Amino acid sequence: MGINRTYLIEEKDVVLAFSTNVDCRNIDNSSSFFNSADVVSCKQIHSDIIKLVDESTRGTEIPDCDALITNIRNLPLLIRTADCVPVVLYDKRKHVIANVHSGRVGTQKQIVRKTVEMMQSHYGSSSSDIIAAIGPHICGKCYEVDAACASEFGEKYIVGFSKSQKPLIDIASACKEQLEATGVNSNNIFISDICTAESPEWPSWRRDKCKERLGTFIVLC
Ligand SMILES: [Zn+2]
Repeated sequence: MGINRTYLIEEKDVVLAFSTNVDCRNIDNSSSFFNSADVVSCKQIHSDIIKLVDESTRGTEIPDCDALITNIRNLPLLIRTADCVPVVLYDKRKHVIANVHSGRVGTQKQIVRKTVEMMQSHYGSSSSDIIAAIGPHICGKCYEVDAACASEFGEKYIVGFSKSQKPLIDIASACKEQLEATGVNSNNIFISDICTAESPEWPSWRRDKCKERLGTFIVLC
């Protein structure tokens, strides 16, 4: 599979695309939406560190961060996941985009909420202008964690128990809640119904311990 556009966000000057065969070094370059040499990615560390991206980092991997924000056109932002939650943001008035890696730890550290807040403080974004998409991720029926993890994450996100009586948590709903807490309208939050663990064509660390990653790309055109 190449890099395929998705219509979770359907706006004329932004493209959101997914690839199922990105790994830690290579970016599938079969995209017609952007030049792969321009892609900016993160060396992801499960943090709440957010970087503003400008021309000086075009085409590079930025160390030690888990979210990227830019208002520069033709500067694609890439997040790599395999079960964690990719969250993209688009301010349609100020033309600012963000791409966020929100795994269990990043979600606990409120990286999604903090990214919206950085769009507000740095670019003057209003929550009412922000459209958000939550890409393919492991669903609440599949995401089994131990009891200590679940209680640290928050009892209210436990959606059931697995056959082995371990708690199941729904990280995407926690990401959605962070978006809503900043004032993003729930009608402007679009959630993929693809569960990476249940869909063999999507990379899943839990299922395969794979080196492939789901690449989530967002670019202003
Ligand atoms: Zn699932």
